[in-house]
Amino acid sequence: MIDDERALRQAIIDKCLWMNASGLNQGTSGNISARFGDRMLITPSATPYDDLRPEMIASMPIVGAEAEGYGHWQGPLKPSTEWRFHLDIFAARPDVGAIVHTHSTYATVLAIARKPIPACHYMIAAFGGTDIRVGDYATYGTAALSAHALTALEGRNGCLLANHGMIAAGPGLDKAMWLAVELETLAKQYYLALQIGGPVILSDAEIADAAKGFASYGLQDKRPLTAE
Ligand code: 13P
Ligand code: ZN
Repeated sequence: MIDDERALRQAIIDKCLWMNASGLNQGTSGNISARFGDRMLITPSATPYDDLRPEMIASMPIVGAEAEGYGHWQGPLKPSTEWRFHLDIFAARPDVGAIVHTHSTYATVLAIARKPIPACHYMIAAFGGTDIRVGDYATYGTAALSAHALTALEGRNGCLLANHGMIAAGPGLDKAMWLAVELETLAKQYYLALQIGGPVILSDAEIADAAKGFASYGLQDKRPLTAE
């Protein structure tokens, strides 16, 4: 966990740059946030990632939002238009420390077709269940979209947003981005399997078995290097 605010702001920028360089996202059609104590740090709206500097990341209250005002923000630029679902997810899900939202191609294609991803690959277990749901459609940036996102994310670390894109949520930035890449990969694999007759779906028991390993599998927390 990053406990220095400036370092966390820079880590958000680094993830934005990586997200576009990898091809996962394009332009400024995505946003990234991280929890810092009782506040949320989030990318500013419609700002090219190459221009981002740590002081340009917006800061908003999560806990005590009533005192400072829900939606109140600090920073030189407006927060992402999607600050509502980022903020509401942090408020509702203490397990979530970072959120990646992107319009990655295959996830968005399935979201446009409003096709949830079934258990076509055991990696779906990394998301906490047997499927990836599609949240109902609502205009970007609205409270309605946030409510639909929270419903689709119930018991899950990722979801699709109808005719929009995807959300991946993890304990920290590294895991959230890892999940975003895995979700896009699952979407692509499911899309391609549909072209050749459709996937064979794994049973709940098979997914439960795979899920056992996910307590210890996935992106590893680094141990300090020793001389041994
Ligand atoms: P922002 O540039 O305001 O973050 O919006 C991008 C987006 O993905 C809206 O859904
Ligand atoms: Zn979006």
